[in-house]
Amino acid sequence: MSMDQKVALVTGGNRGIGYELVKQLALNGFHVILASRDPEMGRRAAQTLAESNLDVSFVGMDVDDPKSIRQASITVNERFGRVDVLINNAGVYVDGNETLMNQEPSILEKTMATNFFGAYHVIRYFLPLMEKQGYGRIVNVSSEYGAMREMSYPGVGAYKLSKLALNGLTRLVAAEIAGDIKINAVDPGWVRTDMGGPSAPKTPRQAAESIVWLAMIGPDGPNGEFFKDGKRTDW
Ligand code: NDP
Repeated sequence: MSMDQKVALVTGGNRGIGYELVKQLALNGFHVILASRDPEMGRRAAQTLAESNLDVSFVGMDVDDPKSIRQASITVNERFGRVDVLINNAGVYVDGNETLMNQEPSILEKTMATNFFGAYHVIRYFLPLMEKQGYGRIVNVSSEYGAMREMSYPGVGAYKLSKLALNGLTRLVAAEIAGDIKINAVDPGWVRTDMGGPSAPKTPRQAAESIVWLAMIGPDGPNGEFFKDGKRTDW
């Protein structure tokens, strides 16, 4: 990679929407670091993309483990000295059909650990790499399920709360950061992945569009907003 080439990092980049994001960001000229908790799967995914002449490398990162995130941030800083785009994509959906009050508390804990605390620690460790260059774009892959209006309906409680917290984090960090650093949340829609299932209407490629757009917005672009299909949506 050249010295002035921008660097993007995608968590959970080994499959689903994350894998497509790695591909699309590389096609847009980024050097993309594909982060994956499974080194074998992650390396293989990065290699497959590199074999198609895409500028992709791999770093190990389990977002449930702050030590692993810290180590990844050290590795990235040593190798590249910068991160211009950070996509918090890694996520889980482990709710069953029970209501929040009837399900095992471990389901909420596990979901919060990945979908909320994972993104929180990733931002905490990677924001300094953006702050030192006064530039950065952070995109949190959220869900419409995290909108406050969704709390009026029962079900999917752990997932909803985790994305509600992620949305709150987006807004709060946006209010705290300075310089040309922007953070936004996006609902990718219902997407045909392992999580979304085979009946979902959107392809990962279609889902990646608005995420890549937010990763590349200019200095006058939005900060601390929630998007769906390229348009602002209510929290
Ligand atoms: P998939 O289940 O297809 O992929 C999830 C990705 O997250 C995998 O790469 C997985 O890694 C990774 N991941 C899970 N836990 C961890 C962890 N602890 N550390 C590192 N990586 C982890 O999901 P999608 O691609 O569909 O979803 C991507 C994002 O989009 C999620 O945040 C999801 O909530 C959101 N979203 C998806 C929708 C959909 O319809 N698909 C709808 C709305 C939002 P591994 O392979 O190791 O398990």
